[in-house]
Amino acid sequence: MPYSYLSHLECSKCGKVYDANQPWNVCECKGPLFARYDLELAVRHLRPESVARRPGSLWRYHELLPVQKPDNIISLGEGMTPMLPLSLLGDYLGLHNLFMKDEGLMPSGSFKARGAAVGISRAYELGIKKIVMPTNGNAGAAWALYAARAGMKAYIVMPEDAPPITKRECTSSGADLYLVRGLVSDAGRMTSAAVADYGWFDTATLREPYRLEGKKTLGFEIAEYFAWDAPDVIVYPTGGGVGLIGIYKAMLELRSLGWLEGGRLPRLVAVQASGCAPIVKAYAEDKLVSDFWENAESVAFGITVPKAFGDFLVLEAIRETDGCAVSVSDEEILLWQQRLAREEGLFVSPEGAATAAATSQLVESGWIRPQERVVLLNTGSGLKYPHTFEATDIPVLNPGDELFVN
Ligand SMILES: *Cc1c(COP(=O)(O)O)cnc(C)c1O
Ligand SMILES: [Zn+2]
Repeated sequence: MPYSYLSHLECSKCGKVYDANQPWNVCECKGPLFARYDLELAVRHLRPESVARRPGSLWRYHELLPVQKPDNIISLGEGMTPMLPLSLLGDYLGLHNLFMKDEGLMPSGSFKARGAAVGISRAYELGIKKIVMPTNGNAGAAWALYAARAGMKAYIVMPEDAPPITKRECTSSGADLYLVRGLVSDAGRMTSAAVADYGWFDTATLREPYRLEGKKTLGFEIAEYFAWDAPDVIVYPTGGGVGLIGIYKAMLELRSLGWLEGGRLPRLVAVQASGCAPIVKAYAEDKLVSDFWENAESVAFGITVPKAFGDFLVLEAIRETDGCAVSVSDEEILLWQQRLAREEGLFVSPEGAATAAATSQLVESGWIRPQERVVLLNTGSGLKYPHTFEATDIPVLNPGDELFVN
């Protein structure tokens, strides 16, 4: 049996088919390309029990990932992050089955490592030597690190305001880093132009098919954790939306395989910051695509994306699963960041905290019911955002002073 059951690429907009053995970016209609697999073969030869016996990395799903030969895998030990029950916060919110999947434990400290591991491995397999990427920080950091491990050159462009640690991850790993006095959308225009000029391989969000495949493993891991049953609700901090589109794709593939209990899909919730909520606005107005969000700003930098290339796919995933889209303020985000640390010992990113803030709203409105199984995604470690945590009123003592209770 082949290591991967990848069969072809298919345009998510017009359905045109492409040969998966060559590097491609987007369809001639500009639609993102999706990897397709021989699922019939998988139904006949792949069993959930055999997946369960494999090592704890995202490569345990290799038949449904694009890399053809295990030798081409570029790995830093990614995947199978913990699913942590949140019992104290669950009690507080009135939820009996609340979980957080903690992607802060991924290499490079964010779930962007999933997309980078699979994207870089496949690029390496296809003979690509130089990649370019616009990013809000974490994706660039992850791709720069995986590119270094693959011996590839990375060119990264990010907003000057991106988290400082992500810049250092890029420069330390030998990437060429450019900072732009603007937003990720400005960075994207610059990288698109550079692709034409220099022939670098464009790895911007959904502009090559394989980053999505890496993020898809989030959905596989969640379903496997619940013994191949979907939870009722998955709450996802949405920027470009690749994680949400990936979870949806994973669930559809599992359903085709007959692996998903009752064929039931989870309701997918897209969370955005109120300072940049184009998907929430489009969802509320029942639109199929979003409008560019002017003057975007939020502490949750990773989800500050004014216009997502795959917005129509995010909106489709929300609609088709009876999900929804909600926005939360920066004040709520920072409050829940503290609360997760204090009540559960979880030191999460602002983006991760946004999912808890959104869940609180959705419980209040009755959209989430007490018995439902709810999974929050912490997409990054709080360690990458030290400036979002307060450290004031800390007593400073001289050696020999006595401790006091303040
Ligand atoms: C990139 C990022 C997101 C958003 O991911 P998308 O796939 O762009 O929706 C959320 N959280 C963190 C920490 C990120 O770095
Ligand atoms: Zn097309």
